[in-house]
Amino acid sequence: MNEPSRGDDRPTVSIGWISAAPLDAEQRRLLEAVAADVHARLERQFPDYHWERHHIERSVYPDVGPLDPLVLLELGAEEKLVRHLDYAMVFVPNELTPRNRIFVMGVPSSVLETAAFSSARFHGEPDAAQRLTALALHLLGHLFGLDHAHGGIMEPTGELADLRPKDYPPAATAEVAERLRAVADQRVEEEGDLPHGRFGFVWRTLRSDPLGILTDMLDYAPWRMPLHLGRYTAATAVTVVFLFLSAEAWELGAHLSTAWLSLGALAVIVVAGLSLYVGQNFHQMGRVRGLREQLMRTRIVLFGALLVGIASLWASLFVISLVVMNAFPEVVFAGWSGQDASSLSLPRYAAFMATLGVVAGAFGGNLEDEAEIKAVFLFDEES
Ligand SMILES: [Zn+2]
Repeated sequence: MNEPSRGDDRPTVSIGWISAAPLDAEQRRLLEAVAADVHARLERQFPDYHWERHHIERSVYPDVGPLDPLVLLELGAEEKLVRHLDYAMVFVPNELTPRNRIFVMGVPSSVLETAAFSSARFHGEPDAAQRLTALALHLLGHLFGLDHAHGGIMEPTGELADLRPKDYPPAATAEVAERLRAVADQRVEEEGDLPHGRFGFVWRTLRSDPLGILTDMLDYAPWRMPLHLGRYTAATAVTVVFLFLSAEAWELGAHLSTAWLSLGALAVIVVAGLSLYVGQNFHQMGRVRGLREQLMRTRIVLFGALLVGIASLWASLFVISLVVMNAFPEVVFAGWSGQDASSLSLPRYAAFMATLGVVAGAFGGNLEDEAEIKAVFLFDEES
């Protein structure tokens, strides 16, 4: 892939339009019209690229009943890897199961470079193709790494009636062009000789686009993770409350040096990240075996986002513990920890509490429904 096609030396960006449920003649026409319109608009706005369109039928789901966008995203991500596509758009006529909204028309996942969208809300509408085109352009915008902006197609999709195909805002086109350049660049695996071993490959993937990987991680706003994962945060909070009330914890905290505390906090964050990553089967994502740069990149981004999420949990526990401790007279803590009030270091205790909280959270996190935790990391939004 990504080789210039005949008579065209522009770099190629390929988008797979995948139907994941059987389509009737009308739905098929609708999807084809939408894909054609989207590609015409992309060609016009980003003429430096050759926009390749693939139609793929993977009718693995029935066309009745609501579908979870998560399974559609995973299906799309698989197809994308198998067929060496750059982006995948998974279409179904079914309703999509919403998580936070009343209804959902589409879900973009920039980490998977895949979006799922549905025509269910537009059935029988005379301008269904127009609205669906607008929705697809908006979702693609998210896959290109764009945020919401006023004026243009990246306005938040609140009102069904507002959906009209528009251009990407001028300020965003430079951003998109940069993203596309990276996408159209040859993948690491196609550069010829593969470095020996997994770590060499991870290192090479990291080195190929460190800034892009970091941006993708931060795009998740992983610091919001504790808010989305109720059970995870509850397990953490309960632990910290009990620790506050136990003299042993204070005594133990008193005998740990700052260096050990820092090392412990770091180790715990990494282990908690690994435990969640493996516990939630993130590592099995995508059925393709072997070292694929795209897949490796996705995994690095996900793991990084998990780490940032857990580090934020640690930081918020630290701040909360510190605030709570400041509200109590120091004499109380001095008694619990068996030290005199002058040698008490509240930040050190706060760090100790936060670290133990994160350990508990890692176990609690694996009680979390696998789909929920994945949705937090894979969904950019519900459109
Ligand atoms: Zn959006």
